[in-house]
Amino acid sequence: MTQGNFGIWDLVPGLLLLGAILLVGSLWFVRKLTKALPQGSNRNLWYLLGGLILLFFTGYLGFYYLQYGERYTKTEMLVAFIFFFGAIFVLMVTMLASHTALELKRIYTLEQETITDPLLDIFNRRYLDRRLHEETQRSKRYKLDMALLMVDIDHFKRVNDIWGHRAGDLVLQHLAQLMVTVVRDTDIVARFGGEEFVVILPQTREEDAYQLAERLRHAVEITPMLMASENGSPELNMTVSIGCACLMTNDIDAFALLERCDQAMYRAKQGGRNRVARCTCSEPEDDSEKTC
Ligand code: GH3
Ligand code: MG
Ligand code: MG
Repeated sequence: MTQGNFGIWDLVPGLLLLGAILLVGSLWFVRKLTKALPQGSNRNLWYLLGGLILLFFTGYLGFYYLQYGERYTKTEMLVAFIFFFGAIFVLMVTMLASHTALELKRIYTLEQETITDPLLDIFNRRYLDRRLHEETQRSKRYKLDMALLMVDIDHFKRVNDIWGHRAGDLVLQHLAQLMVTVVRDTDIVARFGGEEFVVILPQTREEDAYQLAERLRHAVEITPMLMASENGSPELNMTVSIGCACLMTNDIDAFALLERCDQAMYRAKQGGRNRVARCTCSEPEDDSEKTC
């Protein structure tokens, strides 16, 4: 390097070191992203990118030490400038990727919160109303089968009265999760209100919906719920009454289907509870079936 008068080449070592520091900053954003991402190929690719940035980092330092105390040629100066702006580019890309991913995650979480019941961690009434409308319109337009289940817990008030409200909440949570495990992934389990649930069964024939309702009823009946309450650790056996209805061609909207499903559920209650009643589209075979 020249002594005395300051030239542009005197900036080069500083640019190289600053570039190396910016790369370390990029690694910090990569780390933030990999911490937020679930395991999988996407996260592995970010690890790979982190490894590449580390390689570049050693390259920057290597270049710095190789030329240390030497005068830089024009080409070497150009390389040093490219290194520096390259580091700024990498920093900006990793920073933007990290900020965008975290922002999207925040928006997703907010959206999930607006459609989830906070106590039961299943879909809430708002989401149910929307999906019910969408599924009904879709099924009518493409002439697809669709069925609905209305599930109401039997004598639930007694649980609250005897074991306390907290125990009642636990029963609700347990039943909600049980329902989710029994139905298919494509079915939608939502809280209708209080201790009533609705299950939307897209592309499901009436007979299949009835069988699923029976499976659900049976699963609840045979699954005891163990819980802690101020009155001890009761093991409760709950039952549910289920109304089952399918979409009919003359249904104007989702409300008509919901209404029939509700009527069927009340028939299940009147019939003695712990049973499934359906509004069949065809001729009824016994008392639990009725043309609506
Ligand atoms: P039936 O067999 O006729 O359905 O009787 P039931 O006792 O289940 O019906 P009812 O509608 O009389 O009682 C529903 C009870 O559900 C009353 C209410 O206190 C309780 N409940 C509603 N929402 C919640 C909740 O979020 N947590 C708890 N613990 N209880 C709830
Ligand atoms: Mg009830
Ligand atoms: Mg009820």
